[in-house]
Order: sequence, then structure tokens, then C-alpha cells
Amino acid sequence: AIPLVISITTAVSAKAGILVKDRLAIERMRTVDAVLFDKTGTLTKGEHTVAGIAGAGGRDTDEVLHLAAAVESDSEHPLARAIVAHHGHEHGEGAHATDFRSRTGKGVEATVDGRRYAVGGPALLRELGIEAPDDLSGDVETWSGRGATVLYLIGLEDGAKVLGAIALEDEVRPEAKQAVADLRSLGVQKIAMITGDARAVADAVAADLGFTADDEVFAEVLPEDKDRAVADLQSRGLRVAMVGDGVNDAPALARADVGIAIGAGTDVAIESAGVVLASSDPRGVGGVRRLSKAGYRKMV
Ligand code: ADP
Ligand code: MG
Repeated sequence: AIPLVISITTAVSAKAGILVKDRLAIERMRTVDAVLFDKTGTLTKGEHTVAGIAGAGGRDTDEVLHLAAAVESDSEHPLARAIVAHHGHEHGEGAHATDFRSRTGKGVEATVDGRRYAVGGPALLRELGIEAPDDLSGDVETWSGRGATVLYLIGLEDGAKVLGAIALEDEVRPEAKQAVADLRSLGVQKIAMITGDARAVADAVAADLGFTADDEVFAEVLPEDKDRAVADLQSRGLRVAMVGDGVNDAPALARADVGIAIGAGTDVAIESAGVVLASSDPRGVGGVRRLSKAGYRKMV
């Protein structure tokens, strides 16, 4: 997936794990005012684990897990894989679902034992025009405040209704805080983060990373709208570098003044970026800025 032009990159950048696809992107990196990071998989590890389950109206937590795992069984989303893996670990093979349908950036739905269910985040609740019941709000607040993603199991028969909630934790990468501090010391004015995840989760992660009032968090952004955050920052006269790893980051990477694909990434992300970091260590972004400041041209 990595084009041949990369092979002309100097030993200097290659050694630092910086693959330069577009030399102008490196030139521009020194003038960048804002660095916008994708959250999941870029600032966090993107490896979710189930941290809690709650049933609404006294519903059994095992039943919530069982149904949620069945609904998620056909989804490739990392949140879905985590729920299915957790169920498998506790109970072995799960129930089967049929008529699976994805609601991109919101959740999924499927039929289990002849009944229709959905699993999704706050955006899905809003779309269905429902709210989580009061007896779940304590758990939901605790989980979100810790930065965990909360998904709801929803029964769709005779009017949509929340049946339970599952919390999924994703660790912030240990190097991420340093990466943010590093960029500031290299003169970057604004650090920003973008995610499809809930506001409370995004804010908790931002606080963990030492975001200040000058920084910015774009939360509950639908995959197809991610590039609009880049445009929003640019419309304020800021030069923007976008850092991401996923398929839905590609339009944002392409729109940014400097697009940086990180880690293994996806082919689409790599194609849309001017710079590719070989490792998933976000401190590499500071490395790109340094390379740019040192005068990349002088090194080749
Ligand atoms: P991110 O930008 O953080 O990678 P996505 O756009 O992939 O996030 O997903 C955004 C939100 O949509 C998730 O936080 C979750 O609430 C919901 N969602 C997406 N896919 C699923 C799924 N398979 N099951 C449940 N919820 C999902
Ligand atoms: Mg991602």
C-alpha cells in the first residue's frame, strides 16, 4: 500500500519511522497552528474491554450481555468485537442473530429469537427519541466520567426501550500525554481531538491528556462529518495537521494542510496522508514537526 516514492526518503526520517509521501507536507508542518487527533486508536489503544454491565428495571446483566453479543455478532466494529469476546470468555458461544443492519456511527440492530434489538451509543438513543431510564443513570455517569464508552441495549418491539447498558474501556496510550506536551513546546497553538464517541467520554480523555481552554474537543461526530472539523479549524485561519488511523479518517486527512497516518493504519488512511508514521506512538507527530523545523530540504 505504500507507494514507491517513499523509498527516496532519507535515512534521517526513515530511521525516525517517518515515511514521507509528500515533501510539501513536511515543509508545511512547521507552519501548522493546530494538530487534530482522532481519539480511538490514535490517542487511545483502540483495544476495548468490557468494564461494566447494568440491566434496566432489574433485568439480569447476563441477559443484557447475551442479547448484546448476539446483536453485535456480525459487526466488525472494535466495540462489537469487545462485547462478543467478553461474552465468549464468560459463556462460550453466543446466540445467533439474523437480519443484521448497521447504523453507521450510531450502532447496529438485529433480530434475536424473533425479536428486534439494537445496540448503540447516545446518538442512537437520540435518533430513536428515547432516553436511558433513571435506574441506569448512576452507572452511566460513573462510567462516562471515567472515560468509558457506554452502549445501550435497546428493545425495538412495541416502541423502543432501553433494556440495559454496557461500559467499554479503552486505555489512553501511555505516550499520548507526552505527545501533546511535546507539540506545545514545539509551538503548536491548539491541540484538538475528534471522535464519534460521547461528549463525556471525549472530555474525560481530553482532561487526562492535559487539554487546556485553548484546545478543542469535537465529540459525537458522524464518520462522514470528520473532515468538517478540519474545515471548521481552517475557517478560523488555522493551519491544520490531522492525525488518524482509520478508514473514516481519510477525508479529514486529505483535507488537512498536513495529513499524518499513524501506526499500521488502513490502506485508505495511508493513501490520503502526506506523511505516514510507522509506529502507533503519537509522539511521532512531534518528530515530524522537528524534522520540518530542521529544514527537511537540507537533509535530502
Ligand atoms: P470513533 O470515531 O471513535 O472511531 P465510530 O464513528 O466508529 O467512533 O463510532 C461512534 C459511535 O457509534 C460509538 O462510540 C458507538 O456509540 C456507536 N457505534 C458504532 N458502531 C457500533 C457498533 N457496532 N455497536 C454499537 N455502537 C456502535
Ligand atoms: Mg479511529
